[in-house]
Amino acid sequence: MTAAPGSLTPALRSALAEATDDRIFYDLAGIARVYTTLLDELPGTDVRFALKACPVDEVLAELAALGAGFDAASPNEITQALRAGAPVGRVHYGNTVKSDQGIAEAYRLGIRDFATDSLPDVTAIAEHAPGARVFCRIATSGEGALWGLSRKFGCSPADAVEVLTAARAAGLTPAGLSVHVGSQQLTSEAWTAAFALIDGVLVELRRRGIRPDHVNLGGGLPALGYVDRHGSALEPPLGEIFRTVRQGCDRLRHLHGGDLDFVLEPGRHLVADQGAIRTRVYRLTHRQQPDGEREHWLYLGCGKYNGLYEMDQLQYRLVFPTHPDRECVPAVVAGPTCDSDDAFPHGHATGRVPVPRAVASGDPVWILSSGAYAVSYLTQGFNGFDPLPYTVLRDGA
Ligand SMILES: *Cc1c(COP(=O)(O)O)cnc(C)c1O
Repeated sequence: MTAAPGSLTPALRSALAEATDDRIFYDLAGIARVYTTLLDELPGTDVRFALKACPVDEVLAELAALGAGFDAASPNEITQALRAGAPVGRVHYGNTVKSDQGIAEAYRLGIRDFATDSLPDVTAIAEHAPGARVFCRIATSGEGALWGLSRKFGCSPADAVEVLTAARAAGLTPAGLSVHVGSQQLTSEAWTAAFALIDGVLVELRRRGIRPDHVNLGGGLPALGYVDRHGSALEPPLGEIFRTVRQGCDRLRHLHGGDLDFVLEPGRHLVADQGAIRTRVYRLTHRQQPDGEREHWLYLGCGKYNGLYEMDQLQYRLVFPTHPDRECVPAVVAGPTCDSDDAFPHGHATGRVPVPRAVASGDPVWILSSGAYAVSYLTQGFNGFDPLPYTVLRDGA
């Protein structure tokens, strides 16, 4: 077996090489570059970073300085977004799941845009955030994404019409529609389907005299650096996705009025490939399984509970910097805890990663494209393994 090639920004590479403890690094200039490229690809859209993907103050301040707004999911996230310097008008409460207290607190903080997907939630917003602007989330199939998000959030197109009609009757402004095509969405067809859903609801709303002023296309834009269960690059069709989104926006503007605004809530796409973890080898073992098969397992200092929460669903590229030209064995990669889910996805003949046969306990390992959903999912110390510390690299650092 040979190792999958990796790509690292120079700032990340040198920080990883110099690190002596387990730590995640973020390349701030890299994040700024991805943000700027996104605006170039999708001109005229308003980007509101879904801050749960990287709730790190320095990262949020950088994005706010570049003009980004924020998609927040709780009063505490709203407070963090405002602290980063975003004007309150560019922060919205994007969680359809809210308590009365949460709505009232957000309103007190100055938030006027709320996501919704049900009549009880509209009633609560009307009571605790009188006169607010609401946008209704339409459920999508989630097909083509690594995480579909399809049942917990959003309503049917018919219900969306009812929800926004009720919002108007309750004195709220029926301001928009939203979707989320699923996280790490790998197909452009998912976007095509989402635009068709939105178009249908806009037509129905117009019959009732309701003309939303914006469409929120949610998150779902993919990271580029993950690998599949065979260690090959995933190669998401990012160019095609951008083209589909541009065409979809143009078409909706053409059909429903040129003044329709578009909002994006990227999370993963902005930060995943701009973060990398330095950890260590605990042990490379070789054990016979109950079915008689002998397997190599590589245990690392970092896993599901201290930086790699998504590792049971996806594979990251690994680099073994002290074993550059090496003979590799296929191994299942796992974290250090006593939880069996604390491992890369593994089944028969899949999910094996090439690992240098000669690795020893303590050897450094770099985990690439691990910048999304790392810090937000740290436990307080599951099994006594410390939360992963982070360092934000500034220009030239
Ligand atoms: C998590 C979330 C996002 C970001 O999703 P990504 O797949 O990371 O881009 C955007 N919008 C909402 C409402 C979310 O909950």
